[in-house]
Amino acid sequence: MNAGQSLVAKRLEGKVALITGGASGIGESTARLFVKHGAKVLIADIQDELGHSLCKELGTPDFISYIHCDVTCETDVQNAVDLAVSEYGKLDIMFNNAGIPGDLEIRAITSDIENFKRVLDVNVFGAFLGAKHAARVMIPAKKGCILFTASVASLVCLGISHAYTTSKHAVVGMTKSLSVELGEYGIRVNCISPHAVVTPLLQKTLGILDKRKGEEILSTTAVLKGTILEPEDVAQAALFLASDEAKYLSGVNLPVDGGYSLNNPTWK
Ligand code: NAD
Repeated sequence: MNAGQSLVAKRLEGKVALITGGASGIGESTARLFVKHGAKVLIADIQDELGHSLCKELGTPDFISYIHCDVTCETDVQNAVDLAVSEYGKLDIMFNNAGIPGDLEIRAITSDIENFKRVLDVNVFGAFLGAKHAARVMIPAKKGCILFTASVASLVCLGISHAYTTSKHAVVGMTKSLSVELGEYGIRVNCISPHAVVTPLLQKTLGILDKRKGEEILSTTAVLKGTILEPEDVAQAALFLASDEAKYLSGVNLPVDGGYSLNNPTWK
């Protein structure tokens, strides 16, 4: 029995999804939710141990499997897409979610460019490679859904994170551009922009090991009080955008931020 058999309405029944960065955080939550909703899921990540143990926990290879894939390597991405098709027969949903924050302490003026390049490499070029190879198999099928994880950093500036903020703005540009380019093939392209959510990425970035402590700190910047953003809330947004309920949504950047990006605290 797999994780999804207790649910009544399976919103991704019969669909095949590939999730980059699926071994941890938002990607992991999305993999769990997609499997619950009847999708067959291929996780692509560089954390092999985590990826394999997640698959083992969630079900059989008939439903979920793992491939080592560095999104900055085109051959890896190509192989991941091809494996989804050979293993599960097709690719309906490509979730380009893998991302890194880079070094948020580096000032633009003293940057040696390497940090900037690395962040763009993973967050922008890696996401583009995912979209490119997904489109390769979705175009002949005349349908498909490509998703990206952007960030509130695609809507507002987060501190001095110039590389991360640039990369996430670029993801929104890519979403819009590809939604126009691929629309004629019935392919929808959207992105999700979460506010800070406690995942290993954020814990490492902020140096907060304790999850609850992290949530407590983040709640001070939240607009929507009394509720905490969880990775599953972001996964739910991905589920909606990937499902047929969103069949006419394309080119959208969906904030999952409780209103954070709209708030100007100086006007309170
Ligand atoms: P996470 O670190 O828990 O997960 C990211 C995953 O991406 C990891 O499993 C990591 O191994 C993988 N990854 C990193 N580089 C990779 C590469 N080159 N190839 C393949 N996989 C790679 O972090 P998360 O918070 O779940 O982040 C997921 C996405 O959400 C990222 O794009 C991030 O920028 C975005 N995001 C996170 C937050 C947050 O507060 N956590 C907020 C907004 C947006």
